[in-house]
Amino acid sequence: MEEHLTETFAHRHIGPRENHAQRMLNTLGFSSLDELMDTAVPHNIRQGAPLNLPAPLSEPNALAELRRLARKNTVKKQLIGQGFYNTHMPAVIRRNVFENPGWYTAYTPYQPEISQGRLEALLNYQTMVADLTGFDLANASMLDEASAAAEAVLLMNRANRKNKDGKIVLDSNIFPQNIAVILGRTKALGIETEVADLRAGLPEGKITGVVLQQPGNDGGIGHHASIIAEAKEAGAMVTVIADLLALALITPPGEQGADIAVGNTQRFGVPLSFGGPHAAYMATSQKLVRSLPGRIVGVSTDDAGRPAYRLTLQTREQHIRREKATSNICTAQALLAVLVGFYGVYHGPEGLTAIAQRVHSHTARLAQALSSAGFELARDEFFDTLIISVDDADATMSAALEAGYNLRRFSDTQVGLSFDETTEASDVEAIAKLFDAKLDTAEANALPADLLRTSPFMTHEIFNSIRSESQMMRYTTRLANRDLTLDRTMIPLGSCTMKLNAAAEMEPITWPEFANIHPFVPEDQAAGWLELIAQLEGWLAEITGYAAVSVQPNAGSQGEYAGLLAIRHYLEAQGEHERKICLIPASAHGTNAASAKLAGLDIKVINSAPDGSIDVDHLDDLLAEHGEQVAAIMVTYPSTAGIYEAKIADVCGKVHDAGGQVYVDGANLNALVGIAQPGKFGGDVSHLNLHKTFAIPHGGGGPGVGPVCVAEHLVPFLPTEARHDDDGAAGTPVAATLYGSAGVLPITWAYIAMMGADGLTNATKNAVLSANYIAKRLGEHYPILFAGNNGLVAHECIVDLRPVTEKTGVTAEDVAKRLIDFGFHAPTMAFPVPGTLMVEPTESEDLAEIERFIEAMVTIREEIAEIEEGRVELESSVLRRSPHTAAAVVDTTWDRPYTVEQAAFPVASLRVDKYFPPVGRIDNAAGDRNIFCSCPPIEAFEN
Ligand SMILES: *Cc1c(COP(=O)(O)O)cnc(C)c1O
Repeated sequence: MEEHLTETFAHRHIGPRENHAQRMLNTLGFSSLDELMDTAVPHNIRQGAPLNLPAPLSEPNALAELRRLARKNTVKKQLIGQGFYNTHMPAVIRRNVFENPGWYTAYTPYQPEISQGRLEALLNYQTMVADLTGFDLANASMLDEASAAAEAVLLMNRANRKNKDGKIVLDSNIFPQNIAVILGRTKALGIETEVADLRAGLPEGKITGVVLQQPGNDGGIGHHASIIAEAKEAGAMVTVIADLLALALITPPGEQGADIAVGNTQRFGVPLSFGGPHAAYMATSQKLVRSLPGRIVGVSTDDAGRPAYRLTLQTREQHIRREKATSNICTAQALLAVLVGFYGVYHGPEGLTAIAQRVHSHTARLAQALSSAGFELARDEFFDTLIISVDDADATMSAALEAGYNLRRFSDTQVGLSFDETTEASDVEAIAKLFDAKLDTAEANALPADLLRTSPFMTHEIFNSIRSESQMMRYTTRLANRDLTLDRTMIPLGSCTMKLNAAAEMEPITWPEFANIHPFVPEDQAAGWLELIAQLEGWLAEITGYAAVSVQPNAGSQGEYAGLLAIRHYLEAQGEHERKICLIPASAHGTNAASAKLAGLDIKVINSAPDGSIDVDHLDDLLAEHGEQVAAIMVTYPSTAGIYEAKIADVCGKVHDAGGQVYVDGANLNALVGIAQPGKFGGDVSHLNLHKTFAIPHGGGGPGVGPVCVAEHLVPFLPTEARHDDDGAAGTPVAATLYGSAGVLPITWAYIAMMGADGLTNATKNAVLSANYIAKRLGEHYPILFAGNNGLVAHECIVDLRPVTEKTGVTAEDVAKRLIDFGFHAPTMAFPVPGTLMVEPTESEDLAEIERFIEAMVTIREEIAEIEEGRVELESSVLRRSPHTAAAVVDTTWDRPYTVEQAAFPVASLRVDKYFPPVGRIDNAAGDRNIFCSCPPIEAFEN
C-alpha cells in the first residue's frame, strides 16, 4: 500500500520538518544530514550496512499487529500468587494517571519546584507503606521485590556494626525467586548466605542479618516475634518481606521488632503485565534513613517559608559513585509508586481493610470446605493462599485450567492458590466444585488472634478525604497541573534522552491480553508475549551488533550489573580468577561504579584528558601496571560529555590486548542507532536504556528497561530465570521474573516497528543535528565545553556556566531555576562536569520549540550581563530569586529591583501560555538537616 509521508510514523516522531532541518544544516555549514554525520562520527566505527529491520508499519498497522500478538496470549484467572495477583485498577486512576502524559512523561523530580505534584503522590505512597509496615519511613521506590530483598540484605550487611562479617540467613519459606536473586547478589560479593528453616530456630554461628517472608511461600502466616527477638538477641538485624494487603489485618513487621520491611506493591491496583513493572518498597526506622537505598521524598520549605517537597538526601545520588557505592538504584519505579499511592488515596484505610477481609474470607471459606472434604492443607493460619495436597498436581492443574483458572504447581502432589481483590464468590464456588468440596455459607476466618493488627494506619487526611470520583479526578489533575512534563515543554536533559513517547506506543500496555498475564503462567498461555519479546530482542541485537539480548534487567543499572556479572562468570569459566579490576573513566555515570562494586569488582579510575575524553596515556599506565588483573573497562559511547571520541576503537583494542573485556554503556545509543554498532566496534557487552533511546516514558523516575546485549562468547552467561532449584552454573538472575518489566516492552516494540531502519537512523541524525544547532547558537553566548571532530558534538552539548559563576556568582542552579519562569525544565545539572548544564534536545523537538529554548537561554544571558555590568546585585536579581510563583508576583508588597513583568513574562509568548511553579526556590540544606518523609499535617500549608 502506498502511504503518504504524513501517514508514516517517523514523520510524526521526528520534530524538525525537512526545510527546518535544512535551515539548521545551513547554519552549521553542511549541505546534508549525511555530510554532518560523516564529519561528526569517526569513520572506523561506522556500520557498513543499513539496519536489517522489517519495513516500517503505520500506526494502524502496528496496532493491528500488536492486537494479533495480544490475541495469542490466553487470559485465565490467575490464582498462581507467589507475589503477583490480579487487580482492579480504578478507571479514574487508569485514565487520569496511567494513561496521562502529564504523569508518565515526567522526569525524575530532581527539580523539585516543577515536580510538586508527583512528589506529593510519591509522599502519599511512602506514608502509606510506612504506616502499613509499622515503620517510620519508606522510600519511593525499589525495582522489584526480589532486588529489594537483596538490597535489604546489603543494607543489613553494612549497617550491622555489631555483627559485622557474619552470615546472612534466609528462611526457607521465602518465595523461590527472592531467594535466587538474593543468592546471586551475595555470591557476587562473597557474603556467606545460608537458607534454613527458621521454625527450627536460628542456625549456629555469627549472623549479620535474617530474612523472613510474611505470609510465607507456603501461604502460612508466620509468628515472627520470637524468632525476631532471638535474632536481635544474637546481634542480627532482621528484614521481613511482607505483603502490604495482609498487613491491613495482621501485626506489621515494624511492630514485631524487625529492622526493615520490603515487598511488592503490585496488588494495589497495578496489572500483572507478565511480571512487571511493579514498584517494590523498602521501609525502615528513622535511624537507618541515611543508609536507605533509593529515593526518599521529604519535606522542606521554599523561599517564602511554605512547606515544599523534595528528594531528601538528593546529593547522595552523586555519591553512589566509585568505591563509595552502596547500592545501585537510579531509575526506580516512580510511576508505579504513584499509581499505588493513588490506589491508597482512592480506597483509604477502611477500603483496603475491607478488600483484605474479603480476600481472606473467601480463602478461609474455601479452606474450611477443602478440610471438610478431606484435603490436607499445608498451613492452617493463612491470609490469601492455600497449599493443598492432592494425588496428582498436574491432573488438578489441568482440571482447574479447564474451568478457567491457573493454579500454582507447588510440588508433584501439592497445588497452591491465592485469592485477590478480583475474586468473586462465584470463583470460590467454582474452585470448591473442582475439589468436590462443599462451601459453608458462613463467613470464615483463619487469622491467628494473637497476630491481628490493632494499630491504626493511613490516618492522614489525604487517605480519608477523597471518596467521590469528582474529588479523585480533580486531585489527580490538581497534582498533574503542578508539574512540568513533556506534554508542556521539551525536557532537554543531557544523558536522559527525553524523546516523544507516542500515544500509539503506549496504548497496548493496558490491553487485558498483555496486562493480565501472570509471570509464571504455562508458556503456551504467553505465546504472544514470547513472540513479541523474541522479536524485540532480535531487533535490539541487530541495532547494537551483538549476538544476543536479555530484556530481564529492569533499569540501566541492572543491565550494567547483569553485564558485568556475565563478564565475571565468563572469566571464571576461562580460569581467569585473578581478573577483578574494572577500569572506569572519571566522567562515568554513577551507576557504572556502583554496578562494578556490586558485581564484586575493584574499581580503578581512568583520568579524563583536558578535552573530556579518556586520557589514553593514563589507560596505558593502568594496563601496564594491572593488565593481568583487568576484568573489564566500562566506557560510555558517545562519551558522557556527548562526544564521538575518535579513539574508541583504539581504547577497546588496548583492553582486549591486555586480556580484558569491553563494556560499552549504551545509555547514549540515541547518537548511534543506524550509524554505529557497539557490538561491532569493540564492545563485548552493553546495556541499553529503553526508557531513553527507545521511547519508554521516564515515568517520573521509572519504570525502565535496561536490556543487556552480549557478544557470542558471553551468551551462556546472560541472566537466567530466578529459580531457587537452579544449580546456578552460568547466568544469575537479576530480577524476580524472566522478562523483568515485560509490561512496557510493547512500547519499544511499537517504536521500532513503526520507525523501521530508515526512521531510526533518521532519528539519530536529527538528534545530532539539533544538538549541534543548539551548541552553535548558544555558543555565541556561553562557552560550549568539549567538541569532537570538526568542533562537532554528538547528541548533546555541555553549556559551561563556570566562567559566568566566577565573574558574577550566578550559578548553573540559578539558570536552571530561572528557566522555570520561561516554562522550561532545566537541562542536566552538574553531570558530567560540576557547574555546567548538559542539553539534549532529542530528535522529537521541532525547530520552534528549539528556538523557544534558545531564546530563553539568550534572554537569561542578558540578565546575567546586568549583574556582570554592576547594574544589579546578585542576591536581589531576577536570577537568584527565581523561580517566581503566582503568589510572589501578585504580592502587593513587591519591592524587588526588577518588575513583575520581567519576573513572570520575560518573553512575550509567556503572556498567553504561562506556567507558574506552585512553590519558590526550595531550601535543600534545611530538608537534609531535618529529614521528614511522610505527609505533613494540613495545618503546615495554612497561611
Ligand atoms: C541513565 C544512565 C545510566 C543508568 O540508567 P538507569 O536506568 O537510570 O539505571 C547509566 N549510564 C548512563 C550514561 C546513563 O545516562
